[in-house]
Amino acid sequence: MAENCLFCKIASKRIPADVIFEDDKVVAFKDIEPQAPVHILVIPKVHIPTINGLSDASLAGHLVLTATSLASQLGISESGYRLVMNCNEDGGQTVFHIHLHILGGHQLTSMV
Ligand code: AMP
Ligand code: ZN
Repeated sequence: MAENCLFCKIASKRIPADVIFEDDKVVAFKDIEPQAPVHILVIPKVHIPTINGLSDASLAGHLVLTATSLASQLGISESGYRLVMNCNEDGGQTVFHIHLHILGGHQLTSMV
């Protein structure tokens, strides 16, 4: 838990979020400013500022498998979706606690 980290505060329920899934390692909640009809963030409960610091292969896999499972539950597995993790300035990262975006529910456009 890092002081002054927004997503640590969401993971520890110190600030509210629209949580759709949680287990012992991850939390998934709706993005506050959705960029697509489905826009969910999956975060680890541990504080890792960027994907450069993600060294736990089991956790990395769990983040991805949680996202694919949620995509299925949300009914976008067949229509399609995108998983995105932004890193640092050029990647457009704004919250420095890693998060996997699940984006779907319509035709997504440019990657950049
Ligand atoms: P990124 O630009 O990849 O760091 O993404 C950060 C994401 O967090 C953006 O899509 C924001 O809309 C989202 N976000 C910021 N604050 C909150 C919040 N309190 N609850 C849910 N999502 C948030
Ligand atoms: Zn954090």
